Amino acid sequence: MKVAVLSDIHANLVALETVLEAIGAVDALWVCGDTVGYGPDPSDVLALLIERKATIVAGNHDRAVARNEDLELFNRPAALAARMHQSWLSAAERDTLAALPITLETADVTLCHGSLRDPLWEYVTNPRSAAASLALAKTAHCCAGHTHVPALFHEGPDGERPGRPRYETPYPLKPRAFLNPGSVGQPRDGDPRAAYAVLDLDAGTVTFHRSSYRVDETQRRIRDRGLPAIFADRLAFGL
Ligand code: ZN
Repeated sequence: MKVAVLSDIHANLVALETVLEAIGAVDALWVCGDTVGYGPDPSDVLALLIERKATIVAGNHDRAVARNEDLELFNRPAALAARMHQSWLSAAERDTLAALPITLETADVTLCHGSLRDPLWEYVTNPRSAAASLALAKTAHCCAGHTHVPALFHEGPDGERPGRPRYETPYPLKPRAFLNPGSVGQPRDGDPRAAYAVLDLDAGTVTFHRSSYRVDETQRRIRDRGLPAIFADRLAFGL
């Protein structure tokens, strides 16, 4: 079973379309939250994921847009974008987002946005916090997003090794892995290319990928829709 794992698409339709084309045929599409927030095309991104029958968990931005949840914790431009998305989405689209689970178990992998200790807000950036989530998981592995930085942590003796993966290189998932595919729509690791991962559950591997997309097109759409300019500017630098 081949599974594409995406996260933090953040309403960036151009990046999502590019990534889906690069991935090609897969058996399943999993999304680790923050489908909306920041970007220009929340409705179209949500519609495309539903069309592709994606399995989606909620992120903090999805909850803020759909339910006003924790909106006071957002910085000013992020809160402004969330309110704009609230007004652009239909009631049915907001209901769809509001109904997304915050954790979900599928094919021996638990999906969440942040961590299993704090599914909406914890940033897992080190082996210790990854191990804490794996200790709570009923499945072998865990996929999360939220940091916008690709990472792979293993439980066990090699758990102390750095979490930054190389691209186009299959890594074994064994014995247990906590992985973050990085962000499709707003990378924050200094690389502006869209990030994603592909699991081969039969081989027991994960491979991380980056895809260049038309950043200038997304920037134009952000400006045209009147979103804060910072969300356009940062895409050029992957920050
Ligand atoms: Zn995010």
